[in-house]
Amino acid sequence: MSPSTDVASFHTYLSSARRIVALCGAGLSASSGLPTFRGAGGMWRNYDVMRLATPEAFKRDPGLVWQFYSMRRHMALQVTPNKAHYALAELARKHPAFLTLTQNVDGLSVRANHPNDSIRYLHGSLFALRCSGYLCDYVDDQNFADPIVPSLAVPMAKKTVEQRAPGPASGQSDGGTPTEETLVYDESVELQALQLSDLPVCPKCQQNILRPGVVWFGENLDLDMMDGIEHWLEQPADLCIVIGTSGLVYPAAGYAHRVKELGGKVAIVDLDVSSGGWSSNIFDWVFEGDATKIVPEILKPLIGDM
Ligand SMILES: [Zn+2]
Repeated sequence: MSPSTDVASFHTYLSSARRIVALCGAGLSASSGLPTFRGAGGMWRNYDVMRLATPEAFKRDPGLVWQFYSMRRHMALQVTPNKAHYALAELARKHPAFLTLTQNVDGLSVRANHPNDSIRYLHGSLFALRCSGYLCDYVDDQNFADPIVPSLAVPMAKKTVEQRAPGPASGQSDGGTPTEETLVYDESVELQALQLSDLPVCPKCQQNILRPGVVWFGENLDLDMMDGIEHWLEQPADLCIVIGTSGLVYPAAGYAHRVKELGGKVAIVDLDVSSGGWSSNIFDWVFEGDATKIVPEILKPLIGDM
């Protein structure tokens, strides 16, 4: 049977669903205008950015890796959470048995005030800092400083942009269009050769430098977190809502299959479902389009109007 695109039947099922899990990926944040790091431009074109997201790269050149992550933190702070982030945060407040599993490291769910006890950040966060020393357990879960230390400030350049809203004290271009000068990240500036002493130091051991609190390629996901998720999923979930993530990234994709196998239903919200690598028979509902429009709409029976 092909999946339904009917919002009304989804609403009916949602209203009786008790345990609900959401599985989120890059498509959730794409509506906020956040580029994926694979598309990093400017100076970063000289680097295989996939190879900067590894423990080996950090060991080899922590200054380079830190400049990459400082840039990503800066870019993430330039955008704002969208209505889909807020809708999920609202559902977490209104519905006790709701768990969000997100692969996004961009901090947008945190900034949408998603309750922390009902979300798991599978791949960590750009805004978490950890000690790079093996024997030190220092973690700062939410550090939104930009830059973290002065030497990690991203290079900025003045740019003249059209004003979003007319206001006083603005320049006028010849044509009368209001413009203003603003500072934006200048990705053409050469990267600096940073020393260890330029990088953030762990405030606990005061010996090792801090590292980004993300899961790098070749690293394991946090074991305690994984155990907690397994425990939550042992009781069958009634509904899994997949938002903007492909069926190719494990363990995330496996969670949707688990819900289905234990008798729950699965819905997906994505711009293009067919490109995601999901098996065609897993979905009961398919909602193709922009997450920021669809997610608040399909959750309306539980969260009201956004
Ligand atoms: Zn330390």
